[in-house]
Amino acid sequence: MNVTIKNEQEIEKMRRAGKILKETLDLIEASIYPGQTSLHLNDLAYNYIISQGAKPSFLNYEGFPYTICASVNAQVVHGFCSSVPLKEGDIISIDCGVIWEGYHSDAARTFAVGNISLEKSRLIEVTKQSFFEGIKGIKAGSRLGHISHKIQLCLESHGYGVVRELAGHGIGTHLHEDPCILNFGKYNSGITLEAGMTLAIEPMSTLGSREVYLEDNDWTVTTQDGSPSAHYENTILITKDGVEILTM
Ligand code: MG
Ligand code: MG
Repeated sequence: MNVTIKNEQEIEKMRRAGKILKETLDLIEASIYPGQTSLHLNDLAYNYIISQGAKPSFLNYEGFPYTICASVNAQVVHGFCSSVPLKEGDIISIDCGVIWEGYHSDAARTFAVGNISLEKSRLIEVTKQSFFEGIKGIKAGSRLGHISHKIQLCLESHGYGVVRELAGHGIGTHLHEDPCILNFGKYNSGITLEAGMTLAIEPMSTLGSREVYLEDNDWTVTTQDGSPSAHYENTILITKDGVEILTM
C-alpha cells in the first residue's frame, strides 16, 4: 500500500479542484426537476468544468463515457446518462470529479426530483449524516477503521443496507489511490491517518437489502431487490487538528 502525503502546493491544487467540483454540483442541483434529462445535466457539468480551465476526471476513465455518473433510484453508482426524462418522485445520485493541474477531486450527492417519499428523503438525509458521523473527531493519529465503523453504525442503526462491493479511496494525482476505505468495519483497525492525506469518503446505502448486481453495460451497480439507493461523497484533507472538506 502506498498512501501519499500531499504538500501545501499539492493541497492548494486539490482545493481548487474541489471548489470547481462543488460549483458543478451546485449547478446540477439547481437544474434537477421533473422532465430534465441526465444527458443534459452531463452537458452542464462538462461545459462548466471546461469553462473553469479544468478537466472532467471521469470522462474516459477506464472508458467511462460521461463527465458525471447519474444513478437513478435503484442504481447505486456509475449510472449512465440518458435521454429519458426524470420523473417526479425519482432520486438521482450525481457523482463527479474534476482535475486541476493534475490533481483530482471526487464528490457525490443524491438529489430529489420534485416531491419524493418520506422514505427516500430519510435515506438521502441519513446517508449524508453517515458521512459526517464517519469523519467526526478524525484527525492525524486517528485510525482509518474509525471512519468505516461509524458510517456502518449510522446507516445500519436506521435499518439501511451498506453496499460492500464499493468503497472510498485515497485521491490525488490519481482518481483512485490507496487506501481503500470500506463503509463497514472495526473501530480500532486500519492504517493510522497522517496530516496531508487526502481521501474520498463515500457511503452508499440502500433502503432494502444491501445486495447489488452489475448491469449489462459493465459499469452500473444496482440493487438486486430494486430498492432505492443513496450516495454521499466528499474529498477531505486530514490535518493535525481535524479534517478539511475540499468539496463543500
Ligand atoms: Mg465519486
Ligand atoms: Mg470516489
